[in-house]
Amino acid sequence: MKQAIFPGSFDPITLGHYDIIKRGVTLFDEVIVAIGVNADKKYMFSLEERKRFIEEAFADEPKIKVVTYKGLTVDFCNEIGVEFILRGLRNPADFEFEKAIAHTNRDLAPIETVFLLTSADTSYIASSIVRDVIRNNGDYTKLVPKSVKIK
Ligand code: ADP
Repeated sequence: MKQAIFPGSFDPITLGHYDIIKRGVTLFDEVIVAIGVNADKKYMFSLEERKRFIEEAFADEPKIKVVTYKGLTVDFCNEIGVEFILRGLRNPADFEFEKAIAHTNRDLAPIETVFLLTSADTSYIASSIVRDVIRNNGDYTKLVPKSVKIK
């Protein structure tokens, strides 16, 4: 079975992530959305909330799983036997950043990173922008799946 992991913070999941994950399942038998746990990072949403938002967004999609992990992404891939990392590209800044990570990962383990170019209508969306809109009481609902709800 061809599996890929889609790693990120997903604080929160956006329609940009949603688009990449949905298109990822056309290429792989299973896409494992992997929420990285970084003890030093401050998040707007708890790990449980971030996980639930993603699980609910893909409740009807058996080919998509959601997990959490600590440490290096390639170590986690080796641990669960996954050979591909899926990433989304929005712009040249993403490309430069992702290129360095993918090269580093290739040095660390024989794992391929597969890039999907963002869809035009979600290319401007970033979790950081969504958090800013939320903080300032703006309408964030057009930027995220319906499962993302603020208490
Ligand atoms: P990180 O915390 O690692 O920056 P993110 O949650 O921001 O993780 O992003 C995870 C992945 O989703 C990355 O590959 C990123 O490029 C991609 N991504 C984020 N926003 C979008 C978007 N609007 N369109 C396509 N891909 C996106």
